[in-house]
Amino acid sequence: MKKHNFSAGPCILPQEVFKEASKAILDYNDSGLSIIEISHRSKDFVDVMEEARSLALELLGLEGKGYKALFLQGGASTQFLMAAYNLLESKAGYINTGSWSDKAIKEAKFFGEVVEIASSKDANYNYIPKGYEVPVDLDYIHCTSNNTIFGTQIKDFPISNSPLVCDMSSDIFSRQLDFSKFSLIYAGAQKNMGPAGTTLVVIKEDILGKINRQIPSMLDYQVHISKGSMFNTPPVFAVYTSMLTLRWLKKLGGIAAMEELNEKKAKLIYSEIDLNPLFKGFAAKEDRSNMNATFTLVNEDLKETFDAMCKEGGINGVNGHRSVGGYRASMYNAMTIESVAALVDIMGDLERKA
Ligand SMILES: *Cc1c(COP(=O)(O)O)cnc(C)c1O
Repeated sequence: MKKHNFSAGPCILPQEVFKEASKAILDYNDSGLSIIEISHRSKDFVDVMEEARSLALELLGLEGKGYKALFLQGGASTQFLMAAYNLLESKAGYINTGSWSDKAIKEAKFFGEVVEIASSKDANYNYIPKGYEVPVDLDYIHCTSNNTIFGTQIKDFPISNSPLVCDMSSDIFSRQLDFSKFSLIYAGAQKNMGPAGTTLVVIKEDILGKINRQIPSMLDYQVHISKGSMFNTPPVFAVYTSMLTLRWLKKLGGIAAMEELNEKKAKLIYSEIDLNPLFKGFAAKEDRSNMNATFTLVNEDLKETFDAMCKEGGINGVNGHRSVGGYRASMYNAMTIESVAALVDIMGDLERKA
């Protein structure tokens, strides 16, 4: 039976990407060799890396604007410390909108002073703070564009003269933004781009080299840039599969096309959450994420019935994160509107039944 995969991460990717990637595991480009058994220094793989890096910049509209794209390892979690290692000398500002921001703050504190500019921790992160004051003279400001666990998404980013650093792990390539407002963007591949194992880092080169600290090679952005993202063996399969997803994205019309579809999907599920008296949304309405919709059952007694109906309908991965409870429907780029409609139908069926 076809599964509707609402998993928050690792998560759904386009079917055609799965097909192409599995073909390349057995025989890459009719070479008689697998993509995972050839040298990462071979032309075949270097071409993959270069295409992935240039597609990332092209899709974000950052070509020729002084940015470099890297595919690194260690997940977004390594970027929490790597960003600070490379950029934090005296003081950085962080916007705390969820567990991932909180973890980024913890890591940055190893390298310098961290000011929490704003936080929504007081309400279990169910909203995005607004109207806060942004201090001047910060080394950078860090924010999390989409809060995967809580289902909130930043619509208005902080305005300041300090470089803006953003963890876009769970909404990269999902909506149109002026990406040139950001000096550093990072995203673990496994939410909206590829399998786990690589992290996209997009960095404006002129913010680097401004601090006095010595940086170990593997954690130094400048080293990775100078080596074309091939300082050491890259995660070849994760980069290849991410490249396939980026090709797919470009073919479908790029971020603009994704945004249109993502808005339709989000509208569909949120209108059911709002109209169906059995469900309640978790996140503040104006801050709702188009990627992760979080909601709970008003009457927990219906949980068993609803879970069974979901299972029967092939709905996978809708359990909420333990820190929120309830349900979370993650609707990344590759999710079709038909899958969202299948979940919405089941929510409606529950109402008719109850
Ligand atoms: C999943 C996630 C992370 C953690 O990514 P890893 O690659 O597992 O380190 C960080 N930030 C956000 C917003 C996420 O959704």
